Parts: sequence; structure tokens; C-alpha cells
Amino acid sequence: MTTLLTMKAALLQEYGKPLVFADVPRPMPKADEVLVKIEASGVCFTDVHILKGEHASPNPLPLIMGHEGVGRITALGSAGGTLKVGDRVGIGYVFGACGHCRDCLTGGENYCPDFDATGFSVSGCFAEYVCMRKEWLNRIPEAISPIEAAPLMCAGAAAYASYKKTGVHAGETLAIFGLGGLGQYAIQIAKLSGARVIAVDISEAKLATAKALGADEVVVADSHAGAAIQALGGAHGCVNFAPVGATWPLMLAACAPRATIVLTAVPADQLAFYTYEVVERGLKVVGSSAANRQEMNELLALAAGGKVKGVINTMPFDQINDALACLVEGQVEGRTVLDLR
Ligand SMILES: [Zn+2]
Ligand SMILES: [Zn+2]
Repeated sequence: MTTLLTMKAALLQEYGKPLVFADVPRPMPKADEVLVKIEASGVCFTDVHILKGEHASPNPLPLIMGHEGVGRITALGSAGGTLKVGDRVGIGYVFGACGHCRDCLTGGENYCPDFDATGFSVSGCFAEYVCMRKEWLNRIPEAISPIEAAPLMCAGAAAYASYKKTGVHAGETLAIFGLGGLGQYAIQIAKLSGARVIAVDISEAKLATAKALGADEVVVADSHAGAAIQALGGAHGCVNFAPVGATWPLMLAACAPRATIVLTAVPADQLAFYTYEVVERGLKVVGSSAANRQEMNELLALAAGGKVKGVINTMPFDQINDALACLVEGQVEGRTVLDLR
């Protein structure tokens, strides 16, 4: 007789309602999966969108959300591989993809039309255990604590991939709009790459943190921001992490000729521009969503060297509803991570 193993999980049972803790069956890893005991699980604004039903799961509820999970392997599926019980691994929003389409074959698995999203289309990390696919998980260097590693899985990775898409080189200027968790990571990544960073936000407190994280200049995100950035020489790249359309005209006004604007946050607004503004100045506008595994590995290597630090607010797992409520109210500076150790 086998005893059914269970685990504690925070279930989304009804959109718009608090998560409900329940004991549910512990998942069994399939051949190509590993079972991971979660040590730390980051809370992301995407979880709020899912919770409210604005970004409803394709599957019927209940759902275990959470896509910034880090923990150690406790069991391995039958397929071979080099992973061992005890290895620390993590997963972000890309749980796995088809592996054979044009995008998967060219480092664009995060744009695969067929990718599974952790904590959205498959069970996520707001639970004591989760299964991860061997080919798609990320190995976490031992030099990074699980609390530090968790927000790198989504926020850090998205910031890193966005930075790379700006094409800004050492000595050039990057303007970073929106200084929440992603903006804070992007400041450090851009500085490590030798860029000059102008940090832009409406919040004086966030601008002060940006300075402390290494931003060369800070600019208040009012209607004069574009002119202020032009007075500082203009931006060769702009990246938007603020979930509001109001930053769009500021970014257009801030751009130096041939700058790239990277859109990462997803405001509901339609963004307008006069064609000549983009054409005459040779601007480029690029979208960026999540990150591929190589970008994740590059970021983890930087973080393992102690060069990328999150501004992290740690909470116990059983306070997950408080953590989500704080995000809704905009009370969080940086990232929130649930400690499940
Ligand atoms: Zn996320
Ligand atoms: Zn694919």
C-alpha cells in the first residue's frame, strides 16, 4: 500500500478572491521532469493580473500560480541527464516550449507559439513542491541564495533581456523608465556593461534608490522629462518598465537619433506617434517579453559574482494574500519573495 504524499499549496479557486491554502496531492515527475522542493517563490505583478482574471488561465480553476520558483531537486523522472537530487534549480515564466519551431531553434523559446507558462497554463510555485522540465529549468549557482535567485527568474531575467535589446554599448546612454524591481535590476546590469544610466520615475523615493544602485542621473517623469534627458545628451536607448502609457511620449522626446525604445511593461493604452518622429530620426521600437535560457544563464553568472542585487522584501508563505494585496496597492519597492524554507 502506498501513502498518498501531499503538499501545502495556495490555490486560486475563484478570480478576484484571496488564494486558499489546501493540502493537495504532491505532483509526480514525468520522465523528463524533476520534482523540486520550493525554497523561495517570488510574487510578480503578472500574478495580480491572473488573480483578478484580467489574464485568465486557459485551464479551469483551481490554479497554483507563481513563476519565480527556486528550490532543490528531491526526485528525478526516469529519463537520463546530469541533474542530481539536491541540485538547486529555478523556473521562470517559460515552463517549457515546443523545442522545434523557428523561435525555439533560434533562442526565442519565450516567443514560441506553443510555450507553457508556469503558474498560468501549468501548475506554478506557490506550493511546497513543483515539477520542472529538465530541459527548461535553470541551474542556480550555489553562490546565490534562493531568496536572491527567485526574483531573477522573472523580473531580473526580463530586465536583462530588455537591456540587451536596447543595443546600448559601453559609453552610451540608457534611459530607464519605471524603477520597480525590473528597473532596479536594469540599472545594475546596464552599469556593469559600461553604459551611462538615466533613471526616470514619478517617485522621489524610487529615484533615490536608483541613485544608490548606481544610476548616473535621475529625472522626474513629468512632462519635462524628455527635454531634461535631451539636456543630458539624449538617450541612445530607452526601456519602459512602467505599466502606463504616459511614459511613451517622454521616451520619444528623450531619444537621440537612431535610438532603440524597448517596451517591456504592458500598459493597456494604445501608443501613438507622428510617423516622421520615428522615420526622420531612424528610431527602432522593440517589444521584449521574459527571457530565453541563455539570457537567464548570463544573468545568473553576473548575480553569482555578487554584482546584481535585488531590493527584496521577504515574507512567509502563509502571508501570500498580504503580499499580493501590497502589490495591488503599489506599496512594494522592489520585489517580494515568499520564504518556504
Ligand atoms: Zn513575472
Ligand atoms: Zn517552439
